[in-house]
Amino acid sequence: MCVLESARAMAIPERVAAKAEDMMTEEDPNCNQEGDIKQIKVSRWGPNHAGAKELAGLYTKGKRTQEVVCVYSSVFLAIFNIFQLIYHFSIENWAAPFAAALSGVVVADFLSGLVHWSADSWGSIELPILGRNFIRPFREHHIDPTAITRHDYIETNGDNCMMVIPLLAWQAFTFCIYTEERIREVYSWECFLFLLCIFITLTNQIHKWSHTYFGLPPWVEFLQRWHIILPKKHHRIHHVSPHETYFCITTGWLNGPLEYIKFWSRSEWLLEQLTGYKPRSDDLKWAKKTE
Ligand SMILES: [Zn+2]
Ligand SMILES: [Zn+2]
Repeated sequence: MCVLESARAMAIPERVAAKAEDMMTEEDPNCNQEGDIKQIKVSRWGPNHAGAKELAGLYTKGKRTQEVVCVYSSVFLAIFNIFQLIYHFSIENWAAPFAAALSGVVVADFLSGLVHWSADSWGSIELPILGRNFIRPFREHHIDPTAITRHDYIETNGDNCMMVIPLLAWQAFTFCIYTEERIREVYSWECFLFLLCIFITLTNQIHKWSHTYFGLPPWVEFLQRWHIILPKKHHRIHHVSPHETYFCITTGWLNGPLEYIKFWSRSEWLLEQLTGYKPRSDDLKWAKKTE
């Protein structure tokens, strides 16, 4: 039962019910605020959550600098590589970009799930370097899902750009040292690698769009409606506490099949047997923070 229905059922004052009605969907992902009036007044989710405030405060100048450097470096490398791909294109290779786009988007979707699952389920903010810089946004996102919509281009995409830099740099290097003949031989692979990097780079932007309810360009809404990129409704399944499924956030195409084979829960069971560590214990700790 959603918060509004709960409010009505419990005959809470009209003022509170009206407030609940005004809430944006994402401030109450999947009705997590269901409960008594106290829970409605003291926000369990959203920017007023104590944990969300603390996590937002951990975004430092150093982190921002890393993101800026990564965005500009990856854009520079991507431009260099696309010119190489265009330069070496020949008509007998016409199908390579299409096959590469399809396989690239599927692999990117899987990798988005793997990284998202790893960061959500394992490790903690206390981990040196990794915790504050790379796990923190995942913790913040579960308790304040709308925060991502207030992040600018750099904060949204900086870490994804960082992930593709080694791949793009390697590709640029191979374009510099390979002969013309060798590039022709590996042209399909180069297309795949390049488009994989592009889809990885776009992943968090697509994820941000899936949380954006107002002002999206019509072409983005079209892509969401036809499930070419991650749709809003589809991604909301992940935001049901305790956030244990539907981790893929590029297109979300693999969420159904991975759920069908219980990929995440089986992997968690295995890791728990091996390490004794309970998945999402750090995530739960942040969700429960009240001051
Ligand atoms: Zn998550
Ligand atoms: Zn999300």
